[in-house]
Formats: sequence, C-alpha cells, structure tokens
Amino acid sequence: MIYTGELYHKCDFSQHLASTVSRHLQKMGLQPVREIIVADRVIEARVNHARWIADCPHCRSADFVFTPELLFMCANCGNDSSYQCYQVAVPGNRSAIEAVLSERDKIENRNWEPGQTVQELESEGGD
Ligand SMILES: [Zn+2]
Repeated sequence: MIYTGELYHKCDFSQHLASTVSRHLQKMGLQPVREIIVADRVIEARVNHARWIADCPHCRSADFVFTPELLFMCANCGNDSSYQCYQVAVPGNRSAIEAVLSERDKIENRNWEPGQTVQELESEGGD
C-alpha cells in the first residue's frame, strides 16, 4: 500500500484544508483557508516511505497528495501566504510504481522520485 492523503487522513482534500491545514496555518499566525483557489503552478509528487507527498517550493515542508483532487496547500506557509492551491502532477504509470513499491516489506524502502522508471525501481531490489 502506498498512502494518499485521503487514505491516511480519511477525508477529502477540502475537509483536510478546512481542518488540519487551517488549524496549523492559524498556529503559524496565518489565515485559515476559506475557499479552494487553484494557482497556475504545478509541483511534482514523489513517494516517501510509502506516502504520496509533494514538497512545498517555498518552505521545504511537505504534505500528502490527495486524489482525485491533486491539489496542494502547505500547512506551514499557505503556499507563501497566497492561500492558492498548487496543482500536483502524478506520474501516468502511478499504479505500476505502486505495484513495485508495495512488494517491499520495509516502509522506509518504498520511495520514488520524479523521472525514476519502473525498471530502475525493479533493479534497485531492496526489501
Ligand atoms: Zn510552505
């Protein structure tokens, strides 16, 4: 299993924004997110320890990728205080990547970086 946001948090992206993300933003002295506004900016998803995540390009925080929304809002900086969600690109062969990674017993070995092919994952081996 490779976790997406909705599997891990058991809610959809808009619920995640209204709860976890908004609470954390307020702790950081920022505003809660009141509506979903999508910016014309795309960031790439990666797999880290069996989780689909995306890295914030502003503050180096990261968060789960939610499907099917494929939107990102950093709970640390509100995407540089713009409060606009970024679009998240996931690879077209996502299911093939998940299949290879899911065969690995150790969660810490379930990793994928953008551009890495399924063949490269298979040749890494690992357990
Ligand atoms: Zn950030």
